[in-house]
Amino acid sequence: MEKELKAAAEEKSIDTHLRQRMNKTVIAFSIAAIVVVFIISLFAIRRSNKPEELSELTVHFIDVGQGDSTLIICGGEAMLIDAGNNDKGTSVQLYLQKQGIDKLKYVVSTHPDADHLGGLDVIIYKYDCNTVFMSDVKSDSISYQEVLDTLNNKWQKPTVPSLYEAYNLGDATFSFVGPVNIYDSSNNNSLIIKLEHGQNSFLFTGDQEKEAEDDLLSTGISLKADVLKIAHHGSHSSTGTGFLRNVSPQYAVISCGDGNEYGFPHREVMDSLKRLNCKVFRTDEQGSIVVKSNGIELNWNVEPSTTWNCGIVTRNPDSPADEDKHPDIPFIANPETTYILNKSSLKFHNPNCEAVQEMNPLNREETTEDRDALLNAGYVPCKACKP
Ligand SMILES: [Zn+2]
Ligand SMILES: [Zn+2]
Repeated sequence: MEKELKAAAEEKSIDTHLRQRMNKTVIAFSIAAIVVVFIISLFAIRRSNKPEELSELTVHFIDVGQGDSTLIICGGEAMLIDAGNNDKGTSVQLYLQKQGIDKLKYVVSTHPDADHLGGLDVIIYKYDCNTVFMSDVKSDSISYQEVLDTLNNKWQKPTVPSLYEAYNLGDATFSFVGPVNIYDSSNNNSLIIKLEHGQNSFLFTGDQEKEAEDDLLSTGISLKADVLKIAHHGSHSSTGTGFLRNVSPQYAVISCGDGNEYGFPHREVMDSLKRLNCKVFRTDEQGSIVVKSNGIELNWNVEPSTTWNCGIVTRNPDSPADEDKHPDIPFIANPETTYILNKSSLKFHNPNCEAVQEMNPLNREETTEDRDALLNAGYVPCKACKP
């Protein structure tokens, strides 16, 4: 009996001992599990904040001489803004080929001036372009017609973008923030694009001039950007100090031709950029400029330019008058001229109207007729200068 009791007691003690050991093991396992889960979640949180989580964005400001062309690639998707002058289509095509681009998700024609839209017919002809954004302001230029014809031949229509609608390009997003009005000058009608990638932002301003800049400012939307593509090749008719201060870019990119005949970039713009401590990159001195974004940092293929060269005009006596000439060589009307006619759009302007400077010289005609005679002849007064 005593023996049995002892055995039972022993058994009980072994049992308790075992249970205690089991309990300790369970606690130890639980703690280990909690620690493991904690470490994993820490990693997960850290990883989601890591830049590698965003696919890299690359922006190429392609050297097209006197003109503009920008290629943007993110997450295997590509977008092209403008394609330089008529003779640059093939070199832009070669540049795209080198980057391994075989189709374009988006093509943007900022405005119909030849130094931006000229090369686009080649690109639209050669590439599968998913969406081609163009403004609905028509142009009478030959280059513009060539682009429309090329689209027509591919059974495609341009898309007129709506303001502020967000589009995706890989992990980047962009929207059109301008123009917010319709203008008489082609430059002011430029489509304005704001692109964002993680913490980095870019503003592409086409050739918009101060009038459109002021209207953009008055909308009150945030124009702040880390990188600003300087409007109109650094012309003093654009990049007003108020606008520049609002964007407050760390970096500015100027796309202009080496020794261009307009003296781009102009001193006023370079001085403003210098005052703001903005780092400047320029295609005339540095060729194609490439910047990479991981969503946090920006890495450039070259060091910023430090020459601050500006206003150097090189005239090429052999260059024929461009069909959509920039307005930097002013047109001066005869003293007896009453109005300036556009024989293509059938509008008439006061001789001092800005649109007269922008007009295709082939369509421009001076007249000494009075207002009623012009109205009778079917001409309509310009909405800007209200003759
Ligand atoms: Zn222009
Ligand atoms: Zn231009």
